[in-house]
Amino acid sequence: MFILKGIDQLTNAITKAKKIRPRVEFDRFGRYRVSGSKGYYTVICRKDERGIKTVECTCKGAEKGLVCYHAVSALSLHIGLARQMATA
Ligand SMILES: [Zn+2]
Repeated sequence: MFILKGIDQLTNAITKAKKIRPRVEFDRFGRYRVSGSKGYYTVICRKDERGIKTVECTCKGAEKGLVCYHAVSALSLHIGLARQMATA
């Protein structure tokens, strides 16, 4: 799990995601399934009551607090959906 602070922390993972292009499946708003080397990982994007945004992924890297390409792949979909909801 990591706390989303800004785009800078995501740059490396975005580069990797663009190369690998994982499949992202929508489960429900804030919950996505992303294809990885060993099957699908679940990514959960949350915002708590203080406005702190966190992203969780079930892969090994995310367990150690790393920003993985699964998380950023799901996050790009999540941010797009959140924008749509805000402007609807
Ligand atoms: Zn991951």
